[in-house]
This record gives sequence, structure tokens and C-alpha cells, in this order.
Amino acid sequence: MTRAEDTQGAIVTATVTKTFDSLNPATGDLVGTHPVFDAEQVNDTVARAREAASWWAGLSFAERAERLKIWRGIIARRMAQLAEISHAETGKPTADAQLEIVMMLDHLAWAAGNARKVLGRKKVSTGLMAPDLGASVEYLPLGVIGVIGPWNFPVFTPMGSIAYALAAGNAVVFKPSEFTPGVGVWLVDAFAQAVPEHPVLQVVTGLGETGAALCSSGVDKIAFTGSTATGKKVMRACADTLTPVLIEAGGKDVLLVDADADLDAAAEAAVWGGLSNAGQACIGTERVYVHERVYDEFVGKLGDLVTNLRAGDDPEAQLGPMTMPSQPKVVADHIADALSKGARALVGGIAAVGERLVQPTVLVDVPEDSIAMTEETFGPTLAVNKVRDMDEAIERANDSRYGLGAAVFSKGRGQELARRIRSGMTGVNLVYLFAALPELPFGGVGDSGFGRIHGPDGLREFTYAKSIAHRRFPALLPLTTFARTAKIDKLMATLTVLRHG
Ligand code: NDP
Repeated sequence: MTRAEDTQGAIVTATVTKTFDSLNPATGDLVGTHPVFDAEQVNDTVARAREAASWWAGLSFAERAERLKIWRGIIARRMAQLAEISHAETGKPTADAQLEIVMMLDHLAWAAGNARKVLGRKKVSTGLMAPDLGASVEYLPLGVIGVIGPWNFPVFTPMGSIAYALAAGNAVVFKPSEFTPGVGVWLVDAFAQAVPEHPVLQVVTGLGETGAALCSSGVDKIAFTGSTATGKKVMRACADTLTPVLIEAGGKDVLLVDADADLDAAAEAAVWGGLSNAGQACIGTERVYVHERVYDEFVGKLGDLVTNLRAGDDPEAQLGPMTMPSQPKVVADHIADALSKGARALVGGIAAVGERLVQPTVLVDVPEDSIAMTEETFGPTLAVNKVRDMDEAIERANDSRYGLGAAVFSKGRGQELARRIRSGMTGVNLVYLFAALPELPFGGVGDSGFGRIHGPDGLREFTYAKSIAHRRFPALLPLTTFARTAKIDKLMATLTVLRHG
């Protein structure tokens, strides 16, 4: 809103809405123009969401599930349209954009279908010492959830929060990344068709400041997915209003290859884990540790597979461009640092990094202190090192400030090794698929963040526990009364020594 004097000298106000463009990263073509929501507009949106939230929370689980099912149907039927927008805004192959939507729909179905079972009111047994009391617990919606999303999986990732928050009975205000606003607007428009009564899901488009405004808007929780650095800013901003936060941040995932592993499967998984989505994945494989007995054979297979892949903006290319214009420089810096410290490029290298297209790179013998091993690269690169045994592999895997996903390839020790890795999720003889299982919680430790989306934990994340204790009959030993007698105090003391002494 700006204030100015008109020709007669009267003060007038006018709403000036700034806009920003979303561009196709491969071609630079305009995909869409969107308003930049300022703090006042964000606050207005949250105020509308608050009214919608009380209507939505007042519906039964079944009534909400019914509406979420209609939304799911709309998305499924128009999946090609959504995939096309995602492709245009991120540059990823359209088939990959579709895969993301397919996986998301399973989560939406699971969250809606299981919310009552996970969150609904349950009787709690009160034990021998309190036979006179009954108790119950249920998980109630927090109110309005602010969801701040990244661009790399612009459907799947924010929907990991949105679907679960809605199924738990909250309204949601969604701030998509400035690189993928069109995807966010599409999802919200589709929701409005399924649930026309109230704006239970709304979008606020804009740049970082719009996200910051959402943090200060008085929402009841912020679910943030993005870089660790921005996650810290979000936490700082939320501290002022004691707004709780869920942080899904970056990763530096490992893939371990044991001496008895199926090397073809391990190489295939490393290639998908490291290079799909052009390596722009929080759970993307970045570090690979291989048992020395199978190292040469594994590296040979990996090299063969990677040589067949190509980044481009044509339909045959398996890898799209880098979505963010600033990312190729980050990838180049990581490769250059590793090479200058003694690593070798088995495939690719500095020359693989173009202005927007980055061809795959496999680095071997990478010094552990190079930034390619310590910082999130977020590009189509893999760093592969030889280890003496799996104990050394675990030690190196855990020597990271991140702890998001991981993978272990081993025939005999997969589960054991998986449990020793400090990460929120680990795949045994697979990559990525733990994210596709709606039953499993998803999230990290350390600099990868905290809190969980997906699964029962992902539903509870957007609720608060409401406990109720009630009296069933008069107390045998009345304790919470000034009429308590010395005899009762003595009896209590005796019983306590008997129970705990
Ligand atoms: P950013 O941290 O740059 O941005 C994430 C979101 O935060 C965007 O919507 C951004 O808006 C917004 N934002 C920026 N500044 C602020 C601020 N001051 N206050 C509030 N919000 C703000 O991450 P990217 O979009 O670059 O995403 C890539 C990162 O996300 C990677 O590190 C990746 O590992 C991580 N990620 C984590 C996942 C997980 O589940 N753990 C899943 C997917 C990605 P804008 O875009 O307009 O600047």
C-alpha cells in the first residue's frame, strides 16, 4: 500500500502489488508472473486461514478425508498438466515430474485415511494407583500451518507437510519457492475446486521476504523445507513469537558398498541416487564408500553407467538443467576444490559444468576435508572413496554435520550397518524408496533438521496432545484436598516406600 497526494492535495492510498517472474531454467522463457505478497498481505491471508481453520477442524476425520479424496482425484486426472508446469519451472524431465506426483498422491491418500486412527481420541489405562481415575488422549490440530517449500521437488516435498497438516485438521498457508510458484498456485487452485467452502489451503507467492513474513505472521507452526542456512533464519524469526518449527534441511547422504554387495544393483542405485533430478535432491547420494575388496569392480561398473547419461533440455536427456542459476558455480567450486586437493575425475570434471547444464561427474580418491565431502553439493556429482572395512565406512559416514538419508548395499550385514548410520532414514539395498512409503517418518538429525513429515509422526507433527483425566468414583486416598489427614500422609509414605524404596 502506498500513500500519495492527488491533484487536489488529498491523501489517497493505492495497492501497488509487485510481481516476479518464474522462468524456464533451460530456455529462460517466461513461465508465469506472480504477485509478491508483502507482510500485510501475508497477515491478511493468515487471518482468512484462521477462520477457515475453525470450520475445517470442526469437520469429522471422515468428512475431511472425503474432501481430500476429491482433491486427490482432481490432481490424478490432471497430472499431466501439473507435471508440465513442474517441468517448465524446474527443467526436470516431465516423466520425473510425474513420478513425484504419483508418489505424493500415495501420501495424500495415506494421511487422509489414517488420521483418525493415529490422532483420534483413545482411552488410556491409569494403573493400580489411580483406579478412581479414567483418562484419554487425542491429538488436536494446531490451527494454521505455514509451509515454506523448496523448488527441487516442488510437489512431493511441500505436500509432505501440506497433506499431513490438512489431514490432521489444520488450515495451511503455503509459500512455494520463488522458482516454482506456478506449481504452488496450481495445487491450491485444485484444492479450491475440491473444497470450495472456505480457503483452507492458500498460497502466498514471493521471494525470501514473503517467507520471512509468514514466519512472523502468527501462524501456529512453520514447516520449512530448504537449506540449513535459511532454516536457521526461520528459527530465529519464529523465536520472537514462540512459533514452533519443523526443519527439513539439506543432507550429505552416503551410500556404503560392502564386500558381499550386489555390485550391479549398488552401482545402479548410486547413479540414480546421485544423478537423478540432476543431483538436486536433499536425499541425493553424494558420498560413496566402497569396501577395498570390490572397489575396482564397483568403480568400473559405475563409470560405465554414468558415461551413458547426459544433461540436456531435449526429451531424450535423462538429466535436466540446474534449476537455480547460481548452482553451477557451487558445483564447479566443489569439483575444483576436490581436484586441487588430489582427487581424480573418473567421469566429467570442471569442464562438465556449463552455464545451466551440468554433465555428470564422478570423483574418486576424494580427500575427506574437501568441500565435495563436507558441504552439500546439490549437483550431478558423486564422490567415491575406498575403505578398509565397513567399520571405517561407518566412521566416515557419521563424520558429517548432516544426517538425512543413507543407503547400505550388503547381503549379510545390511540391517546392522543401517542402524549404525546417524541418519533419519536408511535404505538397505535401495535408495530413495523410504521416502515413498507413507508409513515411514521422514526427517533428519543434526544440520539436516528436526521434526518429521510422513507416517504417524508426520500427522502428530501438526497437532498438540490433549490429555483429559476424569474422576470415575470418589478417591480412596484423597490427596488433593486441604482436608487430607495425617493418617493418609503416613499411609502414602508407607505405600511409596513399598513401591519405590
Ligand atoms: P532455500 O533455503 O534457499 O529456500 C527454501 C524456501 O525458503 C524457499 O521458499 C525460499 O523462498 C524461502 N526463504 C528464503 N529466505 C527466507 C527467509 N528469510 N525466511 C523464510 N523463508 C525464506 O532452499 P532451496 O529452495 O534452495 O532448496 C534447496 C535446499 O532444500 C537444499 O539444501 C535441500 O537439501 C533442501 N531440501 C531438503 C529436503 C528435506 O526434506 N530435508 C527436501 C528438499 C530440499 P525463495 O525461493 O523465494 O527464496
